[in-house]
Order: sequence, then structure tokens, then C-alpha cells
Amino acid sequence: MAAPAHLMELIAQDGGGVAIPAGNINWDVPFPRALELARRTGAHVLAALPIEPVILGELAKRRGLDPARDLAVDTLFLGGAALPPSLQRRLARTWDARVIELYGSTETMLLGTSCGRGTLHLETDLAYCELLPAGAGPEARLVVTTIGLEGSPLVRFDTGDLVRPCPPCACGDARPGVVVLGREAEAVELDGRRLFPHDLAEAGSAAAEALDSAVFFVVVLDDRLLVRVETGPAPTDDPQRAAADRLLGVRVEVEPLPPGMLLDVDGLSRSPRVYKPIVVADWRRGGRRVLTIDEGLVEWPRPTWAEGRRWLGRTIKTAVRRRRLGRRALPPVRDR
Ligand SMILES: [Zn+2]
Repeated sequence: MAAPAHLMELIAQDGGGVAIPAGNINWDVPFPRALELARRTGAHVLAALPIEPVILGELAKRRGLDPARDLAVDTLFLGGAALPPSLQRRLARTWDARVIELYGSTETMLLGTSCGRGTLHLETDLAYCELLPAGAGPEARLVVTTIGLEGSPLVRFDTGDLVRPCPPCACGDARPGVVVLGREAEAVELDGRRLFPHDLAEAGSAAAEALDSAVFFVVVLDDRLLVRVETGPAPTDDPQRAAADRLLGVRVEVEPLPPGMLLDVDGLSRSPRVYKPIVVADWRRGGRRVLTIDEGLVEWPRPTWAEGRRWLGRTIKTAVRRRRLGRRALPPVRDR
């Protein structure tokens, strides 16, 4: 998210606002702290990976907050991973916010922005975009020559992404619209079809939506797709059908799960404290009773008994599931 983060900073400065960098990569700003920052500062815009408002939303609900009512966020700028329409709709409702998809990379900077109709329009003022044929289907490889970059211009740079061209957009913007399918290298062959990260995320998100949830995880097995979904309070549709409709001709199994099995919100709320290295500990001063260099560096939070029990239950169930899937995924010996 380096490029979007940089863009957000510039946009905020331009409009007299402030960007608050927050990321959980190194525990500097774990999700609970990011949520608290958003709430306390009354931030209007959240720029993030698509999964991040899902996690923040679950965390908010767990703390008795309604993201739509209790947070001032009215716009979600999302990019850096597949953002299927069903997830966009879900997030727009959960946050009562406009969802804008950003597409680009650190090398190219901004290449596309979605309009009010949800079409991702290519930023043809910033880059000359070529859609080169990629196989027999409508998919195309996106190759760009930057126009707007002074520092490190790129000539016919292969983004590595495949896109699907959209019909002319009803919003009136004449710039071409595309669906970004994801990295060509990350495509999956299954049942004679080539599935892209966007397709997999769309199937997972649609199944989750049917179960009144946004929390899903897709596993690609030898013989099928396994879509694991946390169940929300008010399921509305058949998740199996919702996923299968998105992936016609591909074997899909949807596995509904209780809340917390895929995303442990309590666990997210716990992050270790990190200290400067020490080689001397004075126990007479009270406080931490350090005995080793490791303990001096990091202090892991101690779970309560209830949390420990839930963690153990989740870990065992997941391990059992993994083992069963591993067995079933192997073809019978005589076929090898
Ligand atoms: Zn449009």
C-alpha cells in the first residue's frame, strides 16, 4: 500500500486535511489501536486493503460499536487486492460509506479509480494503457507507459495483472473500464477453467454475503474449491448456490463456520509489548520479573482461561479439518 498511502497523504494535504498512517505489519498500530484512532480523530476516509475494513468492522461490533453509526468514516478507498462487487456492497452497508476502488502499484502509482457506478476506469491521463491479448478469452494483459511520473518513468511496463474490459460505463466517463482479475501467476486451473484471484474472492464474498457475513477464506484443493465462511446473525440465502453461481462448472464446497473460527477478534486485540534489550533485571523494584534476555525483549499478553479455552478449541478443530482435507485431497493410490 505504499503508493496509495503516499497518494492519501498528498490528497489530504491538498484539501487541508491530515493523513494518519496506521498499519499492523509490525505491531506498531494493531487493529484495535487503528480503530480507536479512527473513532477518536473522527476520520472521514479509510484507505486500506479490502480485508482491513472487514477486520475493523468485526472488531468494532465486538466492542459494541456500529461502524455506520459510531464512526465518522464516509468513504473507503480500497485497493491492493481483489475487491469483488459483493464485498463492495457489503462494506458500503456495514460502514454506510462510499466504496472507491483504487488500482495501481508502487512502480506505476495510480492506474485506476472506480466511479459512482462501480466501474474501475483507467487513469489514461497518468498512463498510456495497452490491453494485450492473453489467451483465448476476453482477458487482457495490462501494459502501461507512464505519462505522469517524473522520477522513474516506465515504458511499456508489464504490470503482471490480467484485466477484463468492461462495456462503456453509464456514468458518462469515456475512459475505458476494466475489472482487475489479479496476477496472471496467481491464476488457478480447476475443472478446465482458469480462475483468477478476483473470481475466488467473489465466490467467497458471495457465499459470506448469503450467510450475512463478510468473513471468508478460500482454499484451493486438488479436486475443488473449499470456501470457508463465518455465519452471521441473519443468513438470507443458500451460500453453496451463491458461490457456485459465481464459478459455473467448478466444484465448490462451502463450509459454514461459527463466528470467530476464521477471524479471532479477541486475539487481534492482544499484541505483545516490545522493550529495549536488557541484561540486568532488578526484581526489588517491582514490576516485571525478567529472567531471560527474550523475556526482557517481548512480553506476550496472557490469555484468560476463557480465551485460552476458545483458542484451544479453535486450534484443534482447524487442525482436524486440515488433516481430513489433506487425506481427502490425495487421489487413490491406483490412479497415481
Ligand atoms: Zn463509470
